[in-house]
Amino acid sequence: MSLNGILWLAHLFFPRECVHCGVLLDFRERDYLCPGCRARLETVPEPVCERCGVPLEIPAGNPATCPDCREHSPAYRRARSALIFSGPGGSLVRAYKYSAGPYLSGACLRPLLAGGERWYDWEKYDRVVPVPLHPRKTRERGFDQAAVLAAGLSRKTGIPLDRKSLVRIRYTGTQTRLSRKSRRENIRGAFLVTGRDRVRGAEVLLIDDVHTTGATVGECAEALIGAGAAEVDVLTLARAVSR
Ligand SMILES: [Zn+2]
Ligand SMILES: [Zn+2]
Repeated sequence: MSLNGILWLAHLFFPRECVHCGVLLDFRERDYLCPGCRARLETVPEPVCERCGVPLEIPAGNPATCPDCREHSPAYRRARSALIFSGPGGSLVRAYKYSAGPYLSGACLRPLLAGGERWYDWEKYDRVVPVPLHPRKTRERGFDQAAVLAAGLSRKTGIPLDRKSLVRIRYTGTQTRLSRKSRRENIRGAFLVTGRDRVRGAEVLLIDDVHTTGATVGECAEALIGAGAAEVDVLTLARAVSR
């Protein structure tokens, strides 16, 4: 049977809907978004803060840095995101995190790679490191969404995947309702670098699903830099932007 035949049969028994608008998808659709919603996936508009990647209202001189980064300089060199965490992009990432999980990894990896290519030069990196989940959270959720993205990115770009060097040593619960400052305090000391030899002198690309205040990726970068990493750049699938 041809691939299309298999897809058609699968679709007959498990019809799939667009994760944003709910319309029934064509059986050949791979992205879990209908063509209309896919066309409305938003990338992060420029100009952005050159450190944390937040869109800036007004181009603020050169280099353009946002007030948060001026007040509290992040340990990473740059953080960038592929999509805006609202509209179809928000639905895609939420479905990936909370329900459909690994089924959506391909649909999420494509924009992640496109976003990464927009900002970064893959050749520069020695290792790609996912923000680690606490083992308890991986059990609750059934899969580790950042690790799946990092593994896919490593396969496509050839940057070696490193899931061992950075570990989460503290369970932090959900940070959704915390302020920027409380998030930073809540996450402090949650990560540990176990493979200092692997990390020393390395250019690290750190991967996560959503960048909200940047507290989590900032803390990971601090642990990696503290262990001797040369530089850490961050790439996330989506960026939460207040509007
Ligand atoms: Zn749709
Ligand atoms: Zn910033």
